[in-house]
Amino acid sequence: MKIVTLKPRHDRPIRLRHPWVFSGAVATVSREPAPGETVLVADAEGAPLGVGAWSPTSQIRVRMWRFDDGAVDEAFFAGRVAKALAVRAGMAERFGTDALRLVNAEADGLPGVTVDRYGETLVGQFSTAGAERNKAALVAALMEQTGARTFYERSDMDGRGYEGLPPAVGLLAGEEPPERIVIHEGEARFGVDVRGGHKTGFYLDQRDNRRLVAEEARGRTVLNAFCYTGGFGVAAQLAGAAAVTHVDISGPALGQARANTALNALPEAGAEFIQGNVFQELRAFRDRARRFGLVVLDPPKFAASKRELEKAKRGYKDINLLGIKLLEPGGILATFSCSGALSPADFRAAVTAAARDAGRTVRILRELRQAPDHVEALTFPEGLYLKGLLCHVE
Ligand code: SAH
Repeated sequence: MKIVTLKPRHDRPIRLRHPWVFSGAVATVSREPAPGETVLVADAEGAPLGVGAWSPTSQIRVRMWRFDDGAVDEAFFAGRVAKALAVRAGMAERFGTDALRLVNAEADGLPGVTVDRYGETLVGQFSTAGAERNKAALVAALMEQTGARTFYERSDMDGRGYEGLPPAVGLLAGEEPPERIVIHEGEARFGVDVRGGHKTGFYLDQRDNRRLVAEEARGRTVLNAFCYTGGFGVAAQLAGAAAVTHVDISGPALGQARANTALNALPEAGAEFIQGNVFQELRAFRDRARRFGLVVLDPPKFAASKRELEKAKRGYKDINLLGIKLLEPGGILATFSCSGALSPADFRAAVTAAARDAGRTVRILRELRQAPDHVEALTFPEGLYLKGLLCHVE
C-alpha cells in the first residue's frame, strides 16, 4: 500500500476519528496513488493511523475508511453495509414507511456513499474517488443484504467535479426502476421519480418534520413555500389543514405536487399550486394582505460553502422576514436550512433577526433536525446539515 505521511502535529483529527485529511496536512506520498486508491496514512514518525481513499484533485486529500491498518476489500465493504443496516433495524416499521436512507456516508464509515431505499429500489450517490473505485463491491453488498430488485445510480451531484469525476447516472444492478415509485409514510403516499428527482428522488430527511408540521396543521391555512413535490403540504392537508398553497419555481415539481395531492385522494379545491419565485410571491401575498395560519419555508441550500455564508445568512433572514409577516397572530412557522456550512446557532440568529424586524414575538416549540436514518456521527459534526425551527408567532 502506498503511504501518505502527515506533517508533524497534523495527526490529531485522525486520532480523534475525524475521517478527513486535508491537502495541507500531507507531508509526503510514497508514490503517486491512483484516484480512489486505498492508502495507508501515517503520522510524521511513520506510525500508522489508518487507511483511506486517495483523492488527488480534492482539498480533502484522503477520506478514511478505517482507523487501523486492516484490509479494505469486498468483505470490509460488506461489513460496513451490514453495520449501516443494523443501525437502522426496525426503523422502517417504526416510522411506518418503506423509504429509508440506508447509508449516510461518513456517519456510516463510508465517505462518499449515500444510499436511499424506495420500496424495492435502491438509489445510490457515489461522490468521491474512493466511493467510485469501490462501487461494484458496495452495490453487490447492498443488493445481497437488502434483497432489493434494483440499484440505480444518481451520481450527478456537484461534489463529483471536485473529485475530477464526471456525472454518472443509470442502472447498476437488477431491473430498470419504474417511472414513478409510490412510497408510503404513515397514511401518506408520495410518488418518487428516481431518474429526474432531486438528490436520489425525495426529501426523506424531512420525514419527522412532515409529521410535526402535520400535527400543527389541523384547521389552518398552510403556505408550503419551496414545496418541491408537495411533501409538507400533502401531509398537512391529510391532517386536516383548511387549505394548502404550494409555491415552487419548478413547473415539473409542482406537477408532481399536484399528482401527490391526487394520489392521496385529497380534494383539489383544498390545494393551490403557484409557480413562481418564492421571494416575489411572498411579497405579493404581503401586498395583498393575504395571511396564513402555518408557513413552511424549506429553501434550497443558500450556502454551498463557508465562502457564501454571509450572503446566505442574509437570504435566510429575508425569507424568514417575509414568512413571519404573512402569519396570522398565533400562527406557526416551520423554517429550515439545509446548508451544512451554516451552524444551528447562525440559523437561529437569522430567524431571530427576522422576527425582530417583523416586530413579532416568536417562541420556539421545537428544534428540528434531519430524520434519524440520516445518522450523524459524534466524530463528524459536518454531517448535520438539516436544521429547522418550529415556532409559534404571536
Ligand atoms: N420542501 C421540499 C424540498 C424543497 S427543495 C420537500 O419537502 O420535499 C427546494 C425547492 O425550492 C426546489 O423544488 C426548487 O425548485 C425550489 N426553489 C429554489 N429556488 C426557488 C425560488 N427562488 N422560488 C421558488 N422555488 C424555488
